Amino acid sequence: MDSVGVAADAGPGSAWRSKCPWGAPNTTSISCSFADVMSEQLAKELQLEEENAAFPEVVAVAEGPFITGENTDTSSDLMLAQMLQMEFDREYDAQLRREEKKINGDSKVSISFENYRKVHPYDSDSSEDEVDWQDTRHDPYRADKPTTTPRRGFIGKGKDITTKHDEVVCGRKNTARMENFAPEFQVGDGIGMDLKLSNQVFNALKQHAYSEERRSARLHEKKEHSTAEKAVDPKTRLLMYKMINSGMLETITGCISTGKESVVFHAYGGESATEDKVIPPECAIKVFKTTLNEFKNRDKYIKDDYRFKDRFGRLNPRKIIRMWAEKEMHNLTRMQNAGIPCPKVVLLKKHVLVMSFIGQDQVPAPKLKDVTLSSEDMKKAYHLILNMMQQLYKECNLVHADLSEYNMLWHDGKVWLIDVSQSVEPTHPHGLEFLFRDCRNVSQFFQKGGVAEALNERELFNAVSGLNITADNEVDFQEEIEALEKRNEDHVQNHGKRLSRFSSSGDPPIYDE
Ligand code: ADP
Ligand code: MG
Repeated sequence: MDSVGVAADAGPGSAWRSKCPWGAPNTTSISCSFADVMSEQLAKELQLEEENAAFPEVVAVAEGPFITGENTDTSSDLMLAQMLQMEFDREYDAQLRREEKKINGDSKVSISFENYRKVHPYDSDSSEDEVDWQDTRHDPYRADKPTTTPRRGFIGKGKDITTKHDEVVCGRKNTARMENFAPEFQVGDGIGMDLKLSNQVFNALKQHAYSEERRSARLHEKKEHSTAEKAVDPKTRLLMYKMINSGMLETITGCISTGKESVVFHAYGGESATEDKVIPPECAIKVFKTTLNEFKNRDKYIKDDYRFKDRFGRLNPRKIIRMWAEKEMHNLTRMQNAGIPCPKVVLLKKHVLVMSFIGQDQVPAPKLKDVTLSSEDMKKAYHLILNMMQQLYKECNLVHADLSEYNMLWHDGKVWLIDVSQSVEPTHPHGLEFLFRDCRNVSQFFQKGGVAEALNERELFNAVSGLNITADNEVDFQEEIEALEKRNEDHVQNHGKRLSRFSSSGDPPIYDE
């Protein structure tokens, strides 16, 4: 322990010190009075200082190493206490489980000690945490679609016939379609009020919603750079410490990005390999945020959706977040296997995903939206992306679902795809709509960027999906997309089976046999 001010520099001991064979002890002590030593205030301040050093609230990029191998073990009593507690809890739970088993034996009626468990938040390894991530038909965050008029263009019989041009039906459909605008775009309860929107009004609103979406993305981007928000909670830090302790990572240097749903760190890879994997020299650690503020905004997408009543009610928010991390891992692996340039997965631990770093010497590769490319490179980037979208669709059976210049990095003369936690299979109830949105983003970006041969969004959609939707305007095109999705959903409802893929000639779709 540090001596506090009672030692004096000169005094009877100084002659002895100068002769001492072990050299002089360090005498950089701070002098203060005995009253201060006894002061509770001082003790509190010292304690606070120590805790702050262990769990700084804000993580800034230029702070120097964020976590290193050297400061893992003894830097904080709190950290050690947490680790011990975690170990204790685990042993306690294991003992409970043994007793539960002994008491229940083969009996048909069993009792459960569940309520006595000390399941540690964020640190439970129990198998009930595993979720059926692959069932991507079940996207919790999307509303049911409005009903669409079938391809033949009318419904009903005789005098009750209504066509897709019927004003009232059209108006209601437009109102329902507003549900598909970005979640942050408040549309009110138009359906409840039986609001009928004319095409003209709907199109104007839609245009506004798109530009708002883009504006909010730009704002978000600004915030990302200006605020190093509270980066991670102590439990996540502990997870990260463990990665260093195990030798998997060498140092976590700092935060690259703090987004709405994730925080991304840079780290240098360690020596030890996991599951025969070589650790890349530089890694990115994506921490999915466990604070649910952002996810709550999406409530409206789940609450009335019959598909999630059974499954989703059972999942707690913590598990849902892990599911996103897990989805990102599996989607990246599929892409890796197809040879699409993307980060390589190193390890997934709960809501923390470690992958290879795209960039060099701690500097992440720029997003396409931030880099100024020559017209040659721009053209090259476009063709690479066209190819990647086709590969993603055909070989990986995936639609990115958040593809834009924000999630494509330019590195080593190529385009790299990132951020695939929300990617879904094309036969997802809204898969084709997502693909269409991706196509719109890509097409607009390259057309504005001066790539003359860039296909428009509808051509791009057909080129990627192999579908042959002929509508020559966006409204009809989307209507056909929704009709295809609807047929797929009906098939799932009637046959309990999903489509393996959509047919290339449009009709009829190819089903799983
Ligand atoms: P979010 O869902 O928050 O948008 P992203 O996966 O897009 O999460 O990551 C946010 C940012 O972090 C990206 O825009 C990129 O700058 C950086 N990033 C993410 N993964 C990597 C990686 N593997 N290598 C380099 N930078 C990365
Ligand atoms: Mg992103």
